[in-house]
Amino acid sequence: AAATAALRDGLVIASHGRHCLVETPEGERLICHPRGKKSQAVVGDRVKWQASEDEGTIEQVMERHNLFYRQDEIRTKSFAANLDHVLILIAAEPEFSEHQLARALIAAEAQRITPIIALNKSDLVQPFERAWARLAPYRRMHHGVLPLSLKASGEVDHAALMKLLAGKSTLVLGPSGAGKSTLINLLVPGATALTNEISYALNSGKHTTTSTTWYWVDAERTTGLIDSPGFQEFGLHHIEPMQLAHLMPDIAEHATQCKFYNCSHLHEPGCGVIAQVESPKNPDGAINATRYRIYGELFAELSQSRY
Ligand code: GDP
Ligand code: ZN
Repeated sequence: AAATAALRDGLVIASHGRHCLVETPEGERLICHPRGKKSQAVVGDRVKWQASEDEGTIEQVMERHNLFYRQDEIRTKSFAANLDHVLILIAAEPEFSEHQLARALIAAEAQRITPIIALNKSDLVQPFERAWARLAPYRRMHHGVLPLSLKASGEVDHAALMKLLAGKSTLVLGPSGAGKSTLINLLVPGATALTNEISYALNSGKHTTTSTTWYWVDAERTTGLIDSPGFQEFGLHHIEPMQLAHLMPDIAEHATQCKFYNCSHLHEPGCGVIAQVESPKNPDGAINATRYRIYGELFAELSQSRY
């Protein structure tokens, strides 16, 4: 047989079904299909591909540093790989769900990525203060929550955010209405048009709802933003219930004090976590009562998905 053409490097910047949009190191883009069923590629994947007619064939998906999942009613699917950061964008309004926030944080921790929380709409003073107060347990857990106003003030906030994003690839997540499109269009002028173009190309000329898309913030293509719809459906099915406490730093901190090494922190005597949950009897408890309730809800959910 004729020698195969040399394999070329590429980055998957969008995918739809079995079609992927691959970008070459030179910045060219072409549609590729994976060879065989096994090597399904996701956004953020580094791949080896070769030309076949006017399109390309993905021959190999390079080893991943991490892989993110999403679940719909039917199944869990991977959707993004090789991320440096997860930016969770919430806002003073509409009010965010702490349950959803916890899910996104756990998904990031499970992939050993430090999440960044940004609280947008700081210009809405009173709702912002309320939301900021609700985030107290999260401010203690992470390296600070970034206040942001994408609409009003600008420069200063953006500088702090840009410093975190520079040179990294960041998955941007957030409930609808928090300002994700505003952020992406601010950092990537023309993002909406590009998304439409990509979705049109990938979906054989039909416009559909956009799926996960990779954008470059800078002309040098060092800073990547990955936009992915769907905050609610964060897939946690791959996490064992007994692993959950390790992925919630405020709970994990006190789990070391439990009498039983396999403590679920739900009912055991001598549990270091239960002893720290704030309550009328224990107002100075170090674990926020809402966070502990969410732990219980997620533990039940993860236990149910296993039989
Ligand atoms: P998405 O659903 O997360 O993509 O949210 P959008 O980017 O569409 O923003 C939702 C709404 O919030 C729009 O009306 C924006 O103009 C508005 N918005 C975005 N950022 C800010 C902000 O910093 N302050 C205020 N007051 N409104 C904002
Ligand atoms: Zn315990």
